[in-house]
Amino acid sequence: MIVIAIDGPAGAGKSTIAKALAKKLNLRYLDTGAMYRAVTFAALTRKLDPSDEFEVAKLASQCVMLINDDSISIDGVDATQAIRGPEVTRAVSVVATNSLVRTELRGRQRRWVSEQGGGVVEGRDIGSVVFPDATLKVYLTASPLVRAKRRVAQSGGDVELIAAEIAERDQRDSSRSDSPLMKTSDSVTVDTSDIPVNEVVEHIEQLVVAKKRNIRESK
Ligand code: C5P
Repeated sequence: MIVIAIDGPAGAGKSTIAKALAKKLNLRYLDTGAMYRAVTFAALTRKLDPSDEFEVAKLASQCVMLINDDSISIDGVDATQAIRGPEVTRAVSVVATNSLVRTELRGRQRRWVSEQGGGVVEGRDIGSVVFPDATLKVYLTASPLVRAKRRVAQSGGDVELIAAEIAERDQRDSSRSDSPLMKTSDSVTVDTSDIPVNEVVEHIEQLVVAKKRNIRESK
């Protein structure tokens, strides 16, 4: 089973690159950030406090989440647009510190990939915790200014404000005790600041081909 782990901070280009890579490799694509966002959206809709560990964990374990390449629904409600809104973006990294929620979503991510027979999976802890034996682990990054400008181009807003929000979310994601955002020693770091998307995708594709060859030869 081929699993490509794509981790990195907000705005590093993970979604664009992971989607394009999945298409090229004929694999399914899973956005695990969308899963944390969907739980956050459902918690806010139900007027739960995002930091209420047990209530949010109960919601995560009981919800029906349907994930497709371009859409996500939770308990029958299409959340594709709403999960990108500012309320969810502000609260999601708090929900992501909840270990009970992480355990639940980790299980769902592993089951999804196993049912699909592999995939390109993007997130924060994919190479470190969810799929430590992934075929290839990529850590995507870009300068803080480039990352903020990308988010502004996608969803609007003020570059300085967005940069500050991203910095706060990165800080929370990297410092939490359960599966923090980190580079693993066996991951390949790719800085996307000045490289066009198609070149990054081609580069990663070549890394996958080389990995598969190594695996074949070592058998
Ligand atoms: O990737 P995206 O920016 O949509 O992720 C939203 C948030 O979900 C992240 O800031 C992080 O708090 C959380 N997340 C996580 N682990 C993952 C994916 C996302 O903690 N594997």
